[in-house]
Amino acid sequence: MVFNDALAAREAAYQAGEPYLTDGELSARLTASKATAGRVWLNDVSAVVLQQALADLNTAYRNFFASLQGKRNGPKTGKPTLRSRKDHRQSIRFTANARFKVLPSGKLRLPKIGNVQVRWSRLLPSEPSSVTVIRDSAGRYFASFVVETSPGALPETGPVIGIDLGLRHFAVLSDGRKITAPRFLRRAEKLLKRRQRELWRKQNGSANRDKTRRKVARAHARVADARRDFHHQLSTALIRDNQAVAVEDLAVQGLGRTRLAKSVHDAGWSAFVAMLEYKARLYGREFHRIGRFEPTSQTCSACRLKDGPKPLHVRIWRCGSCGTWLDRDVNAAVNVARAAGLAVTACRAQVRPDLVPAQRVEAGTHPKSHRQSARQAGISALFRGGVEVNERASP
Ligand SMILES: [Zn+2]
Repeated sequence: MVFNDALAAREAAYQAGEPYLTDGELSARLTASKATAGRVWLNDVSAVVLQQALADLNTAYRNFFASLQGKRNGPKTGKPTLRSRKDHRQSIRFTANARFKVLPSGKLRLPKIGNVQVRWSRLLPSEPSSVTVIRDSAGRYFASFVVETSPGALPETGPVIGIDLGLRHFAVLSDGRKITAPRFLRRAEKLLKRRQRELWRKQNGSANRDKTRRKVARAHARVADARRDFHHQLSTALIRDNQAVAVEDLAVQGLGRTRLAKSVHDAGWSAFVAMLEYKARLYGREFHRIGRFEPTSQTCSACRLKDGPKPLHVRIWRCGSCGTWLDRDVNAAVNVARAAGLAVTACRAQVRPDLVPAQRVEAGTHPKSHRQSARQAGISALFRGGVEVNERASP
């Protein structure tokens, strides 16, 4: 409201050929407007928040002017636009001089709002310098704190690992572990699909449709939360347990896969890879992204013979040169690690021939073996150990 009023005032002055309204003038108008009937409620809002709205507008204008003069790095920004109530997502920011406070009881004290109960997703490592309260399109409130931290490097460790990101499994590691999305994420995704189908059936503009739209937004938010949690847990565990990690550049992934599947998974993959990268930097680990044209699924990780592409349904094959039975995904993960110069052994990519059920090696089925279930057990162990969130980055 304040943002919009101030923006409208500046626009009007500009249209009338008057000089650019200064912050002082805007502030004075804001104070004057508090006496008018339509704006009297502003008296109930913390003054700092009102000033913040003006400051946000100034930032928007500064970016716009800098962009016009070509002084701004990054994407061009347009003229500030009116903030809409239909945006369904609203936020206010309290800086330190707004005197917000985290109480010993765990409640959050906000000026002119009072003490609010907070469900903490993690402990604050130090005194926060600001808090942003966000109301998302699903009607949920979040408090996001900015804290100063200086996490140290973790003690050095031995293992290094290659990671193959895929559709069948979220990630396959060069040590043979295959990681699928956890059940809570799959359940949230299923619910989202159902809600979306409901929404398509509803009449446009009906009250019911609006209700369903909110449900879809909530389901969406839950999926996003669950996916982020999963990415955090896995990336934290990988960075904690390995001195170096290597991932294939995601552009390669799209080549052999359908466009739809790629677009659905791309966003998740790049968010995950970004986490790996910043956590590696944060904790003093090595991070490698290997180039676009490494034939990771064409090379035997045992003898390095490159024997050409294999159709996607071939999950296990026998190397024509050394005779080793290879698991497609683990073999790729080993090759990713090698391409980054990491010393990993190929032994986990090898499949014992007596465990290869020949009739199962076909499209759509997945060879189950004793070794496989041992790997699955390894993954749940990874998750039991990896659940605590120990990254300390500012949100
Ligand atoms: Zn070979």
